[in-house]
Amino acid sequence: MNEISLIYINEIFGPTIQGEGPNVGVKTMFVRVVGCDSKCVWCDSKYAWDIKTATASYSGKELGKVLVDECKKRNTFHVVLTGGNPCLYNFKDTINILHENNINVDIETQGTIFPKWLYMCDLIVFSPKPPSSTMKDVYDKIDEYLKWLKKSSLHNCICIKIPIFNKEDFIFAEKYYNLVENYDNVKLYLSVGNDNVNEEGDISKRILEKYKQVIEWSIQSNLKHVYIIPQVHTLIWGNKNGV
Ligand code: SF4
Repeated sequence: MNEISLIYINEIFGPTIQGEGPNVGVKTMFVRVVGCDSKCVWCDSKYAWDIKTATASYSGKELGKVLVDECKKRNTFHVVLTGGNPCLYNFKDTINILHENNINVDIETQGTIFPKWLYMCDLIVFSPKPPSSTMKDVYDKIDEYLKWLKKSSLHNCICIKIPIFNKEDFIFAEKYYNLVENYDNVKLYLSVGNDNVNEEGDISKRILEKYKQVIEWSIQSNLKHVYIIPQVHTLIWGNKNGV
């Protein structure tokens, strides 16, 4: 798939905290791009699928300058590229500019597209979608990319983060555990799937119940090195966007 030259943005928001993965709790600016090549049934960002939801479009350099400006104004030195799928675009110039200004860049992507610039990110979070999403598994594609990174001695910090909605998803995650065990720099994170992204108000009770269930499954499993973290932002802000 060819990268698109302009980067279409759905929203830039923050600073807020990163609610998931290895950098949970870090003060962060988020860049959500428009467009996704997947269509997960429970997607919590469906509003970003359609190009009509773009609020701005930038070249990579322009976006870099916008983000440096925003980060400096807001005393934030951490940016997360998310979507949609940010790998549809070319962020090479953006990442260079952010790095020149000592700003870290993480990316969250489902592992369907592997652009040349991907290794430049300080943290790559691959989030392969489990059976409940109805999407095709990308295990082989991610494995191939990890092999390439290892062979090229590009030792990025990488995690595989899988949302768990049911037992079948958990079994799917166990398969990925076998994969991460082959790589020193890759860790497995499980997060708790949010079954109802339209529910208003406080959803923490429902999320924590599911969290307990995922922990239970993990205790009963053979997983040795695994990090289980609910989406912290859902505990605080429920289904609210842009926080
Ligand atoms: S990959 Fe992410 S953004 Fe795309 S449809 Fe699935 S959950 Fe939504």
